[in-house]
Amino acid sequence: MMLIDRLEQELRQLDERSLRRRRKIVSTACGPHVDMDGRPMLAFASNDYLGLAAHPRIAEALRAGVSRYGAGSGASHLISGHSQAHALLEEKLADFLSPHLPSARALYFCTGYMANIGVLSALGQRDTDLFSETLNHASLIDGARLSRANVRVYPHADTAALAGMLAASEAATKIVVTDSVFSMDGNIAPLAELLALCEQHGAWLMVDDAHGFGVLGEQGRGVLEHAALRSPNLIYIGTLGKAAGVGGAFVAAHATVIEWLVQRARAYIYTTAAPPALAHALLTAVDLIAGDEGRERRARLQALTAQLQDELRLRHWKLLPSPTPIQPVVIGANDATLAAAAALDRQGLWVPAIRPPTVPPDTARLRITLSAAHTARDITQLATALNTIERTQT
Ligand SMILES: *Cc1c(COP(=O)(O)O)cnc(C)c1O
Repeated sequence: MMLIDRLEQELRQLDERSLRRRRKIVSTACGPHVDMDGRPMLAFASNDYLGLAAHPRIAEALRAGVSRYGAGSGASHLISGHSQAHALLEEKLADFLSPHLPSARALYFCTGYMANIGVLSALGQRDTDLFSETLNHASLIDGARLSRANVRVYPHADTAALAGMLAASEAATKIVVTDSVFSMDGNIAPLAELLALCEQHGAWLMVDDAHGFGVLGEQGRGVLEHAALRSPNLIYIGTLGKAAGVGGAFVAAHATVIEWLVQRARAYIYTTAAPPALAHALLTAVDLIAGDEGRERRARLQALTAQLQDELRLRHWKLLPSPTPIQPVVIGANDATLAAAAALDRQGLWVPAIRPPTVPPDTARLRITLSAAHTARDITQLATALNTIERTQT
């Protein structure tokens, strides 16, 4: 069969199983109120947890960065694209996280996806056992595949199973890798126990804090602060396109690990450096996260999360127990989940329907994400609509 025929047949099968995904076009800034496919919507769909993506001070810093550095970096970091803005951002991030990562350095990547594949492929050598949590993000799974390490998947949050696997390993290098906040469930990995296990077995712990950086912890230092982690054997990934509101990601770790990544992480080396203006804008984003405004926004986010949990009265659908602004409502079947998302859509509410393969079969869900930019009225509007839709649909 010709390629096009085969692809069209497979696309039709996706339609039949309610698995075809469609992109929505947003023509306004990221925020609770957006114009989506030409209609005004109240959105619970972004990872802009602190409402910084359209923050005037960050937008102003981005403009200032463009005035100073222009639009593009012109080359990869190891050729001529490494600007002062990138260097200052790396210093600021390492300094911000230093209470948890003593004498660490930071390295800025274009995206979190690239950071994860870059780190895992550079560190995972033939003599390495890589212990990967089963619900890890696709970028960690792909990074594990790209590495030369022996990959062992451990069951979700199962520290006892992991302990057995670590004890049985005779590898020269052991690395445990996990999401901090699971992106489709919102729960947090048992990181204090995982770090203790790693220390006991001489393993490294790599934590992908894409949904925790800026959100968790009094000061916004993410899961490091939330779980009171401190160790030289931590490899921390923070992404900067979610709570930080801009884009890119960073790895913070022991200076020697960072130096090795500069030499060997192909996703760092063989790509054009991100526009310096983004790094310049991120200096302001990190200041906001670390300051009083960040603290206030985190407090508001927690209050809105508690309000949603309080106002939702679901009888058949299940709100997963999550302490983070990711509040998933599991419906189960793909078509019922799409129908619920469509009913919300008709009321001007945008909540994404998440289906397999992003989540396990029969656990399709509405993935509600909250932002400090939402108001209490927004939350009530969503809870009321969902309560009503559940009653009509079940
Ligand atoms: C979003 C996300 C990433 C990827 O980060 P990007 O900067 O969007 O490429 C990696 N890990 C997790 C857990 C994520 O949620």
